[in-house]
Amino acid sequence: MYDYLIVGAGLFGSTFARLATDAGKKCLIIDKRDHIAGNCYTIKKHGIHEHVYGPHIFHCNDDLIWNFVNRFAKFNTFVNRPIAINNGKVFSLPFSMYTFNAMWGVITPEEAMKKIESQRLKLNREPLNLEEQALTLVGEDIYNCLIRDYTKKQWLKDPKELPASIIKRLPIRMSWDNNYFYDKYQGIPIGGYTAMFENILEGIEVKTKIDYFANQEYWNSIAKKIVFTGKIDEYYKFEHGELEYRSLRFETETMPYNNHQGNAVVNYNSLDIPWTRMIEHKYFDQSNANDNVTIVTKEIPDIWSRNKTPYYPIGDEKNTLIFKKYMSMAKSEINTIFGGRLAEYRYYDMHQVIQSAFNKFKENI
Ligand code: FAD
Ligand code: UDP
Repeated sequence: MYDYLIVGAGLFGSTFARLATDAGKKCLIIDKRDHIAGNCYTIKKHGIHEHVYGPHIFHCNDDLIWNFVNRFAKFNTFVNRPIAINNGKVFSLPFSMYTFNAMWGVITPEEAMKKIESQRLKLNREPLNLEEQALTLVGEDIYNCLIRDYTKKQWLKDPKELPASIIKRLPIRMSWDNNYFYDKYQGIPIGGYTAMFENILEGIEVKTKIDYFANQEYWNSIAKKIVFTGKIDEYYKFEHGELEYRSLRFETETMPYNNHQGNAVVNYNSLDIPWTRMIEHKYFDQSNANDNVTIVTKEIPDIWSRNKTPYYPIGDEKNTLIFKKYMSMAKSEINTIFGGRLAEYRYYDMHQVIQSAFNKFKENI
């Protein structure tokens, strides 16, 4: 008999399993994929760690979380400085003096602020959707060039139909600092995320290629508690309707030369290019990369349907209402703990998933 049967070897499941095992509990993790690490999974090709499910940059402010991940990996000093391309013109992200200079030729923060103020949407209420939020923050030029079409392409929805909260993630800086994240800590685990997960899971029993729903009764019978990190609507057999997610396709190519785009992340902000961004994996961790090849991945948004991989929860009104119904059912479960991006239906970054696992572990131990 296990204390915990954990469904999902992603970051939530693996963190929970580590905490429980360290507290003397017996855990078994199952995952329907043929590997551990969930969406953080990396594979090594030509000395390059390929981020199989999109670029993953670890960042956080919290010492406990940073110390936790550093138990299992040494992090490099990677800093995310993406660029954005529209119509052959290059802009720096996040929105900073570099962006304002490329857009308007302004040199000082005061000039940039004046320019934004002259075209900013002025509301005497909270912005109701992503478009209003963006126009309020940065005005028309930046919205039209760098936000509107990228957002349409990424979410396959009009920005007016998307929640304002999505864009609150995008930093705006009145300085020449183009570090995408504000956080105290940032980096990529040297040797790849998969190696970090192998260390997190050391001494813990893991079975891959197993779908919990194929034999739910059996799995429930071998553990005192279930930790579920899959889709919450699927857990409840979609009885309150289906939650919507955004799916993605990744097109990866190995190029027979050293350097393709000169940066880890390049966003493509116009609608004529089908991918939202292209990543060049060797820029995340250059420690052992081969000089004769480079690996790039295009990230292409994909319309959601039940059998596709759910990458991003869509936190709009309709889906939030459906999720609340599932959440109230989940609250009354005694033996099942729900956690992670899919079960909590939250647009979590990795550090937030770890924090959530810490919290759920404390509540349930
Ligand atoms: P997952 O990683 O999805 O793990 C859930 C696991 O459960 C999966 O392996 C799945 O196979 C398994 N599972 C589901 N259902 C079943 C079932 N029925 N039976 C068995 N197994 C099941 N975060 C950052 O901090 N920085 C970034 O730069 C960043 N970039 C990202 C880029 C992309 C393209 C995406 C999609 C996410 C990004 N994230 C980033 C977010 C990060 O991936 C997540 O926060 C984190 O991986 C979520 O962990 P999780 O354990 O909740 O979910
Ligand atoms: N965004 C944008 N232009 C960009 C990058 C981002 O308009 O060049 C918007 C878009 O709506 C996106 C949101 O900002 O959904 C958050 O982007 P981020 O890159 O932080 O999110 P990720 O896709 O990495 O989770």
